[in-house]
Amino acid sequence: MKKLDGAVAVVTGASKGIGAAIARELALAGANVVVNYATSREGALQVIRDIEEQGGKAIAIQADVSNSNEVDQLFNETVEAFGKISILVNNAGIFTFAPVEGITEDQFLRQYATNVWGPILTIQRSLECFHELGGSIINISSGVTRLLSPGSALYAGTKGALDLITVVLSKELGPRHIRVNAISPGATNTEGAQAIGAMSSESQQHYIAGTPLGRIGRPEDIAHLAVYLASNESAWITGEVIHASGGLR
Ligand code: NAP
Repeated sequence: MKKLDGAVAVVTGASKGIGAAIARELALAGANVVVNYATSREGALQVIRDIEEQGGKAIAIQADVSNSNEVDQLFNETVEAFGKISILVNNAGIFTFAPVEGITEDQFLRQYATNVWGPILTIQRSLECFHELGGSIINISSGVTRLLSPGSALYAGTKGALDLITVVLSKELGPRHIRVNAISPGATNTEGAQAIGAMSSESQQHYIAGTPLGRIGRPEDIAHLAVYLASNESAWITGEVIHASGGLR
């Protein structure tokens, strides 16, 4: 018997990076997994193939987490395929860094829509799909809320909001036996981090120098914690924001 046998999990933004690793690890632990993606259908299908090769079950569903009709569709199709859910991982997120003069209205609206409105919307729409016995919501925040580096005002603001939403909703949803926690990854080597130059050798050296455990984070480092927070092993943990950063602070 695996620790997530019988569980149904929705992972947003699971076509690559941290979300893909979380989807794979949840499936390895026995959950049936919905691999949500926005644009990278091929990436999502690869994650499904990886899961099936490990003997797991998963489906891919396209939905922009900031679009209410698409989020409705995401949960309708999930319940149709697998029945009631017990795990929601709000991982979909976007990040740009710029000094305050460089923040554009478009970046502001897109980042808050994806990183803050997205999780509110998915949590709202997921509630009627949660199993009567409850379950676990895991919001993927960021270590930027602790590093507070110059240039991170926009992105850190979205994740700071997500941290507070996590704690408030743990109180609202506790009576329904739904736990709500957040994971704050440190610098993690993903496609998204590479795309903004955060994994250049100079940036990696900078992060490693500040990391007691002396390396860059891997998506699996975050995924293992997500499996723990999804499982009954963390049954007494809610409203927590847990950093997974090798000690980077
Ligand atoms: P990534 O490699 O860029 O992957 C992002 C994922 O989110 C992709 O699957 C993408 O889907 C999806 N996505 C983006 N916008 C979406 C939307 N509107 N609706 C649905 N899906 C959407 O990013 P990552 O580095 O793995 O980051 C994942 C999460 O971890 C984010 O919340 C990020 O803020 C957080 N985080 C990352 C780091 C890091 O160092 N990498 C550190 C701290 C926190 P498509 O590809 O299909 O468009």
